[in-house]
Amino acid sequence: MQQQYLLNTKKRKSKAHFWNGKDTVCKMWSTGGMNQRRDGYVILAEHHGKEICNMCRINAGKPNE
Ligand SMILES: [Zn+2]
Repeated sequence: MQQQYLLNTKKRKSKAHFWNGKDTVCKMWSTGGMNQRRDGYVILAEHHGKEICNMCRINAGKPNE
């Protein structure tokens, strides 16, 4: 399956997160670590040069990606 990313296009310094179809892999989305009502969140097939969230990389077993 193609990797998907959740990122906020309106927040310049925000990071991209791996998206598993329901939640970020770091669980920040479902646990309230991110403001879901904030404008600009999109799910995309690429991270557009944004840095990937550390917790997402560790949880996905891709610490160097
Ligand atoms: Zn994350």
